[in-house]
Amino acid sequence: MLAQRLITILPDMNFEESLEVTKIHSIAGMTKSGKIISERPFRSPHHTSSKISLIGGGKDAKPGEISLAHRGILFLDELTEFNKSTLEVLRVPLEDRKVLISRANKNYEYPASFMLVASMNPCPCGYYGSNEKECVCSANEINKYIHKISGPLLDRIDIQVEVSSIDYKKISNNAQEESSIQIKNRVNKARKIQEERYKKNDIYSNSELTPKLIEQYCKLDIESKNLLEKAFKKLNLSSRAYSRILKVSRTIADLQGKENITKSDIAEAIQYRSLDKKYF
Ligand SMILES: [Zn+2]
Repeated sequence: MLAQRLITILPDMNFEESLEVTKIHSIAGMTKSGKIISERPFRSPHHTSSKISLIGGGKDAKPGEISLAHRGILFLDELTEFNKSTLEVLRVPLEDRKVLISRANKNYEYPASFMLVASMNPCPCGYYGSNEKECVCSANEINKYIHKISGPLLDRIDIQVEVSSIDYKKISNNAQEESSIQIKNRVNKARKIQEERYKKNDIYSNSELTPKLIEQYCKLDIESKNLLEKAFKKLNLSSRAYSRILKVSRTIADLQGKENITKSDIAEAIQYRSLDKKYF
């Protein structure tokens, strides 16, 4: 449910983004003639999807789900149900934000700058950590289950959150919660800050920062640096996870309108890597 609502709080697309999305959908034969797409795409391919349907290709070298999700969301429900080798094809595009498809004597490049959102159960029976029912899985079974996701893929997931099931009464009693429009306004503000900051760098958002740009825009004070180094050693994080934590903390700071990243932003970004700790 959260994944499906996420699209309602993403920032509005600018004109260039709309053009990019419209072009891809037009190549795939999915546009109404003359209509420009102004809503970010939400794609949720089934876990039986093939590699080609995910990354694109085939006879006509058509764009795949990752390109149809460009500037929007690619939602993979029940991530562990996907074929492990199918999921592996996501690794390069998640890094490069584009995909290269080679046909007989021609190469096609499609953009694939999407937000990957995935969900999975905590264990095979689904009740690990639940208050309702006792989990019947052994440690070995849980370990095997989590390892259906490869380490390198997990490494590329910036925010990992464990959520427990809640009952309906609690959901319907939350009248005090912020509406999607209120949250979206905040997100739009943070996106404006980023577009302004990166206007000379030809990117729109923190997620697109290259290692060189991270150095320039994610400077840390001594306190924050120490905290990150400690976490890095304790959680045995990769250098990729390190730079991804920096990007997430840059976003947390932007959402609060802060010019510099502070220790609390780093601490929050580290917290969002809860599965790394379980991956043994
Ligand atoms: Zn279980």
